Amino acid sequence: MITVVGSINMDLVVQTDRFPKQGETALGNLYKTVPGGKGANQAVAAARLGSDVHMIGAVGQDAFGTELLTGLETEGIQVQGVKRINGASGIANILLSEGDNRIIVVPGANYSVTTGEIEGFTKQLAASDLVMMQLEMPIPVIQRTLEICHENGVPTILNPAPASGFTADFLPYCTYLTPNETEAEEIFGGNWEQALEEYPNRLVVTLGQKGAQFFDGEKHVIVEGFPTEAVDTTGAGDTFNGALAAAIAEGQDFEQAVRFANAAASLSVEKFGAQGGMPERDAVLGRMG
Ligand code: ATP
Repeated sequence: MITVVGSINMDLVVQTDRFPKQGETALGNLYKTVPGGKGANQAVAAARLGSDVHMIGAVGQDAFGTELLTGLETEGIQVQGVKRINGASGIANILLSEGDNRIIVVPGANYSVTTGEIEGFTKQLAASDLVMMQLEMPIPVIQRTLEICHENGVPTILNPAPASGFTADFLPYCTYLTPNETEAEEIFGGNWEQALEEYPNRLVVTLGQKGAQFFDGEKHVIVEGFPTEAVDTTGAGDTFNGALAAAIAEGQDFEQAVRFANAAASLSVEKFGAQGGMPERDAVLGRMG
C-alpha cells in the first residue's frame, strides 16, 4: 500500500495567441479544466500501474472538489483521507501561449491540512509500504509526515517540487529524494553530483529525456531515458515519481525502479495533459522490452 500526502488541484487551462499585456484583455482560443496537483498526479500514476493507493489531502465543498474526488475514485484511489473544507479547492491557473506558460497556483484547501490531522493518520502511515510527498502542502505537514514515517520505519519518497519549499531539515528523515535538475541545483547548488555521493541509492536527479542519475555507493549511474516523440511533457516528473513509488513498494531494486520510472514517464509525454498520458503496467513493461 502506498500513501500519498499531497496536493489535489483543478488546472484551469487557457490557451491564447499571445499573452495579454498588463491591463489588457485578450481573447482566448480554448479553456478547459483538467484534474491536477502534484500529489493527485503522482497518486494516479502509481494507481494506473496497479498499486493500492491511499490519498491524504483536502479539497473544497465546491464543484471542483466533487469532480476531483470522483476522478481519484475512478482511478481506484482510496480517498477516505481527503477531507472537504468549507472553502475553495486548490486551483492552478495555467495560461498557455507563444510556446510558453504562465502559472498561478492558489493552494486553497490544500493548505488547510494540519500537523494534528497528520498525526491522526499515524496508523495509516505506519501500515504503508511507502509514503510519497511533494511540496505543495504546508511545510510543517511534510516535516511531521516524514518524522512519523521515520519513527515507524516506513520508507518515504519526497519529490521536492516546488523546491522553494525545501528545507535541509527534511534530509535526515526522507528515504528517497527525487529533484529534477533545476530543483537539484536550487537545493544542492551547482555541484549536485557531489551531493549524489552523500546519499547513495537515495537521491536521484531526473534529467528530462536523458533519464535520471544517482550514485550506487561506488559509481555514478545514469539510467538512460527512453527516446520518444514528446507531445506534452507536463506531468513527466509526476509519472516518474508515481512509477518509482510503485516499483520500490513492490521491492524492485533501486536501479531497476528508476528504469521502470523512466519507461513510464517516457510514455506519459506522448499524450496531452499530466494525467492523460499516464500508462498502465503492460505498456511500461512493453517499453522496457
Ligand atoms: P515536468 O515538470 O515536465 O513534469 P520534471 O521537470 O519534473 O518534469 P524531468 O526531469 O523533465 O522532470 O522528467 C522526468 C522524467 O520523465 C525523466 O527522468 C524521463 O524519464 C522522462 N522524460 C521527460 N521528458 C522526456 C522526453 N522528452 N522523452 C522521454 N522521456 C522523458
